[in-house]
Amino acid sequence: MNEIEPDTRDWADVLEGGCSECGFTGHEDVTSVPDFATTSAEAWNEVLTRPNARERTQPDRWSDVEYAAHVRDILDLFRERTHLIVTQESPTLPNFDGDAVAVESDYRNQDPAEVAVELRAAALAYAAGLSQVSGDQWDRVGYRADGREFTVASLTRYGLHELKHHLHDVNA
Ligand SMILES: [Zn+2]
Repeated sequence: MNEIEPDTRDWADVLEGGCSECGFTGHEDVTSVPDFATTSAEAWNEVLTRPNARERTQPDRWSDVEYAAHVRDILDLFRERTHLIVTQESPTLPNFDGDAVAVESDYRNQDPAEVAVELRAAALAYAAGLSQVSGDQWDRVGYRADGREFTVASLTRYGLHELKHHLHDVNA
């Protein structure tokens, strides 16, 4: 059972307007993202040791472990999307329905300690991939299924927003 309302907002609009909830401005330096991803894994490691990490403290919000499992999968997704744009000519980027994946992958019953290890591995892999991006590669483009264009730079800022916002979601 999943009684949480699916999130239908297009969060990519934070790239233009920033996000008042988590403090993302949309002007962040993309070269800072590998370090941020690595550091955020440490914060998640702490979050996932909370005694109530598996509890939904509000019925309409994910538990810490559900948010962490989502972030782990987002990190993999953004690593793959970045790799696609860098290696292919104007690729279409794979879609990701976070709410559907949460149910299919049973985020709710995942083990916090295991998710912490997997999230850290995903964060390090994403950071390593981004560290290889240089010069004109930041301007390469790919397209979401709905036609929205992303450069490697804007995709990376979008990924940074996901990381920042979900830490905010769990008060970390
Ligand atoms: Zn935000």
